[in-house]
Amino acid sequence: MTSLLTSTNLALYPKSIVNYQDVEYGLVHSQSGSQLVVLAPHYSTALEGFEGEISEFNDRTLLVGPQSALNASSLRTHLPCLQPRLLGLNTSIGMGDRLGIATPGHVRAVSEAKGRIAPIFAQQSIREMTRTGRNPQQVMDDATWGVFEEGWQGAIGADADHLKTTDDIDACLAAGFTLFTIDPGDYVENNLQSDGLNTLIEKAERLSANLQLKKTDLLGKTFDIEGIRLVLDEPTILKAMVKYGKAIDHVVTMNEHLRQVAKNHPFEVEISMDETELPTSPAEHIYIANELQRLGVTWISFAPRFVGRFEKGVDYIGDVCAFEADLAIHAAIARLFGPYKLSLHSGSDKFSIYPVFAENTQGFSHIKTAGTSYLEALRTIAATDPDLIREIYSFALERFETDKQSYFISAQIIKAPKLDRISDWPGLLDQFDAREILHVTFGSVLTEKVDVAKWLFYDRFMDILRSNRELYYRNLENHFGRHLAPFSSDK
Ligand code: ZN
Repeated sequence: MTSLLTSTNLALYPKSIVNYQDVEYGLVHSQSGSQLVVLAPHYSTALEGFEGEISEFNDRTLLVGPQSALNASSLRTHLPCLQPRLLGLNTSIGMGDRLGIATPGHVRAVSEAKGRIAPIFAQQSIREMTRTGRNPQQVMDDATWGVFEEGWQGAIGADADHLKTTDDIDACLAAGFTLFTIDPGDYVENNLQSDGLNTLIEKAERLSANLQLKKTDLLGKTFDIEGIRLVLDEPTILKAMVKYGKAIDHVVTMNEHLRQVAKNHPFEVEISMDETELPTSPAEHIYIANELQRLGVTWISFAPRFVGRFEKGVDYIGDVCAFEADLAIHAAIARLFGPYKLSLHSGSDKFSIYPVFAENTQGFSHIKTAGTSYLEALRTIAATDPDLIREIYSFALERFETDKQSYFISAQIIKAPKLDRISDWPGLLDQFDAREILHVTFGSVLTEKVDVAKWLFYDRFMDILRSNRELYYRNLENHFGRHLAPFSSDK
């Protein structure tokens, strides 16, 4: 279909132009940022809900408006492909974007995956939102604009990540998220190594009535999984109960709340137990799945705490064979009680385990990444503004000891490249310690102010990325291409 919009003199992003029900939509770039354009027959109801300047073009009404929340919301209403939906059991990847401008790069990477991986572009944990001063609606809208700019037509999900309270659920539901990742990590009991049987019994009896041992119906059961016999004897179940009982209670409460407030809004649930100190054993996985199912929770994916170390923005640390053996059992349990997907959190840059993850989950997998897109932004800055990256790195080194508190990471300042010895700034982004140091300090870098009105970095940071957006997208496309290849290759 010929496009009338292209005969205007507007500087359109070519891929953004879409004609839907005789109305054309597009995105134009200008000095002051991008703008939405809508070209519709006079009196078309398609223009309702948009804000902007109205003029006449070729016997039609032309609206040029800002990238506002109102216009993002109206776009989603008018163009169904922009609405997040349920991705079900499809192999999927979540590509969190802390800056709000990475989505076009993510779209390009996913486009290469031949439709074999369903993407989530709007994804942010409440912790990340707090650290970057964003809210769920902004996260959703930024992703919408990015998807629209690239003209992506496939299904998309939207992940409200690591939700800890019912307030978190409400805020994300209002913003239109469809995947709710419930994180009961604060309720997991990690200190039970030295507990004897009697202590375990006492602690288990203190759990709520519907979680008592008799109710589980697991005592004495055996499961033959991947050639391994798992015997659920009393000490094993009691340990699982004490470690995860309160967490199960919390998931049930959160899920019940979600069900009530969602009403007709479609949603799916992920359960994340990845941010615990100790790995989730196979018996514990069975206990968790059994109890959640028994208590009426339905979930699409589960993130256990796997063996080995999953640090942010760097490859897997540990024995890949041991990981695979552990994974094979978790995957079999997920098929037995579901099927549901296994979700790999801190999933960015785990190149050494993607092939075994893809194979053992048989496609029932979700990869969750967040900070690696921020690191690619820094790589882009390193290539275009060495002074700025030097300032950021210097600041990150100062902030590191404070900012690393809530993360499991092993970077050491002493091992990171010294400021005055760096000549290859993009290369800094390939050094283990520097990557982690830069990764965990993102919140400080993006929100530090010189005074009330002036950012230390934020404005310059975003300006550089906006004026080098094609380079940023290319860096993202390359980097995510490496993430996606093991999940989309022909066997
Ligand atoms: Zn996680």
